[in-house]
Amino acid sequence: VPRIGVLALQGDVVDHMRALEAAGAEAAPVRRPAELDAVDGLVIPGGESTTMSKLLGIFDMFNPVKKRLDEGMPAFGSCAGMILLADEVLDGRPDQRSFGVIPMTVRRNAFGRQVDSFETEIGIDGVAGGLFRAVFIRAPWVERVGDGVEVLARVDSGETGLDASGGRIVAVRAGACLATSFHPEVTPDARVHQYFVDMVRG
Ligand code: GLN
Repeated sequence: VPRIGVLALQGDVVDHMRALEAAGAEAAPVRRPAELDAVDGLVIPGGESTTMSKLLGIFDMFNPVKKRLDEGMPAFGSCAGMILLADEVLDGRPDQRSFGVIPMTVRRNAFGRQVDSFETEIGIDGVAGGLFRAVFIRAPWVERVGDGVEVLARVDSGETGLDASGGRIVAVRAGACLATSFHPEVTPDARVHQYFVDMVRG
């Protein structure tokens, strides 16, 4: 059974642990380097990426997490966690840091300029069993993906003229990293966590 940590400095920790367990993993909160050493993969939850960036510094966790990620530890970032995995952040705070392990540009609070939160059914490549109920809360979207980044899902953002591209990118995979703009941990459907647990097993 893979042992998967949830970065527990701030944000949506308990729901991710429940979903990981529903997907057949052992889940553990990660707040310090020794706890990080004991996991095979890491979830970076939703919350507030500026606060999480600050707490990663205060708890001396930024460099240890960055090192594991650079060594290829599987990671899944949802919402604020997606922002923390990106190598470029738009509409961020000047002092906000990210791990930069997925070559992509994310825009913070991107949907929020129209509406703070919404839910919609989306198809996700690699997630079988039909549409997935995706919950977006002050969510980022992805504006650029670099080499080796696979787009797994898009959403109709309500803008016009995007029909050719199919809408805004909201889920990506790059090597051992998975990132979603939405919060799969807040619904009882554990298929996205199952996808990540299978990545960690693989
Ligand atoms: N808007 C938040 C941020 O920029 C993310 C929101 C979330 O994780 N639900 O970090």
